[in-house]
Amino acid sequence: MAVSSSDKFATKAIHAGAHTDVHGSVIEPISLSTTFKQHAPAQPVGQYEYSRSQNPNRKNLEDAVAALENAKYGLAFSSGSATTAVILQSLPQGSHAVSIGDVYGGTHRYFTKVANAHGVETTFTNDLVKELPQLVQKNTKLVWIESPTNPTLKVTDIALVSETVRKIDPEILVVVDNTFLSPYLSNPLNFGADVVVHSATKYINGHSDVVMGVLATNNESLHQKLQFLQNAIGAIPSPFDAWLAHRGLKTLHLRVRQACLSAAKIAEFLANSSAVESVNYPGLPTHPNYDVVKKQHRDALGGGMISFRIKGGAEAAAKFSSTTRLFTLAESLGGIESLLEVPAVMTHGGIPQAQREASGVFDNLIRLSVGIEDVDDLLDDIKSAIEKVAV
Ligand SMILES: *Cc1c(COP(=O)(O)O)cnc(C)c1O
Repeated sequence: MAVSSSDKFATKAIHAGAHTDVHGSVIEPISLSTTFKQHAPAQPVGQYEYSRSQNPNRKNLEDAVAALENAKYGLAFSSGSATTAVILQSLPQGSHAVSIGDVYGGTHRYFTKVANAHGVETTFTNDLVKELPQLVQKNTKLVWIESPTNPTLKVTDIALVSETVRKIDPEILVVVDNTFLSPYLSNPLNFGADVVVHSATKYINGHSDVVMGVLATNNESLHQKLQFLQNAIGAIPSPFDAWLAHRGLKTLHLRVRQACLSAAKIAEFLANSSAVESVNYPGLPTHPNYDVVKKQHRDALGGGMISFRIKGGAEAAAKFSSTTRLFTLAESLGGIESLLEVPAVMTHGGIPQAQREASGVFDNLIRLSVGIEDVDDLLDDIKSAIEKVAV
């Protein structure tokens, strides 16, 4: 089924990359073959030759993600981290990058402990918009944005950063990690970014059963370079995982919308609770970047992620997070089920305390990934956990 670029999001989610086979299957089968027959040397029967280079299920998913990000090209990888690695690998030796400060831990690790091995140096800043002009050097090739950030949910004005970068040097790539919002809530390429990346492990697959990464771009030569590296490095997802992620993506709009509506109610409850010191949620009008949220997020929705500081320090955070019934204590996010975690001792445990606290990750900070259970049950769960902590 060919989608038209004028089709709305939900139509694209269902039909983009969805093809039929010789039997007329409504859902394309999983193509497990590692290799494909050729009529004569270098004349493949169809468009595929060898499954590392390309595979029907991966191609379908890549086309679907590209359609949802308003991009011409999509590429899928074995994880979000492999996607990041391939982008950084594409930079020339001796390049410089500027990144938002509280970037995903694995991205920070790649910048500081892996990319530097081939001479890529990175400067981190907590305010890209203000500091970018001073931080760009002659050899700067990349600006890395994550919005909202993890776990304090700061929102960056992508259009403003992209415009600033274009004025300084149009060759510098602007990359946006859009994992926390998903293509349903925001399309960074519309705001001037060159590449959008996702850990598809999170909202795109959405069922906590696939680890995968994707990127999308409109830049043809960049796409060819990244596709060359995708094949050369070989960090590609399996056909089965590509098929599962494509199935998950078809309900992205329903899942993400519900998660946002429920998260907004939960954030409002937390903001009014006497047991809570402060709440980070981009959908609250009190959020410091709410003006950016209004222009950058669909319907000013805040996403499914909330973080909040509970009164009573690390002890209260530990008690709360091991007391909830429906929110499971686990890392990761973006699935149908609600999860919670304590970043200071889990996802962000490797960051020195002073540095962690400078970006707002205190010992009493709790991060929620709001799932799509009934919101009244989720609220009851949080209320009763708060009561137990207060005792
Ligand atoms: C999880 C995550 C990643 C890394 O993705 P993996 O699929 O776990 O490798 C990158 N960025 C963000 C924002 C994430 O949440």
